[in-house]
Amino acid sequence: MASTPLSSSQLDAMAARLHARKAQLVIQVREVDEEAAETSSRQPHVEVGDAGDQGEARIRGAIRRAEQERDMTELRQIAVALERIQQGSYGLCTDCGVVIPLARLKVQPFSERCVPCQEKFEATHPNGVRIGVSL
Ligand SMILES: [Zn+2]
Repeated sequence: MASTPLSSSQLDAMAARLHARKAQLVIQVREVDEEAAETSSRQPHVEVGDAGDQGEARIRGAIRRAEQERDMTELRQIAVALERIQQGSYGLCTDCGVVIPLARLKVQPFSERCVPCQEKFEATHPNGVRIGVSL
């Protein structure tokens, strides 16, 4: 069983980054929830005949929900990454077991796969959420 290629100080640094990112995402997700609650409570008072504004609000809401979805996916990946730090398998590709370059982990601390495996995974999961690609 291969173990993590990172030193304990590198692992601490990655865990700190993951926790910081997690805190940020939790706030973002909560904000979308609060905004949605506010919008729906305001809905009955919307003036009839202002279809343009309503359409715009609907599109804005859809974008926010898509962003929230992406944030939730990232939160799940962060939870997995933190678990792997605990288990000592962090930094190894989950598919082929090679060491994921530290440079890649620094850009994307929750990377589960090396670049070739990630590309293969995305090619075979076309509907999967692509992290780091903006809408
Ligand atoms: Zn791999």
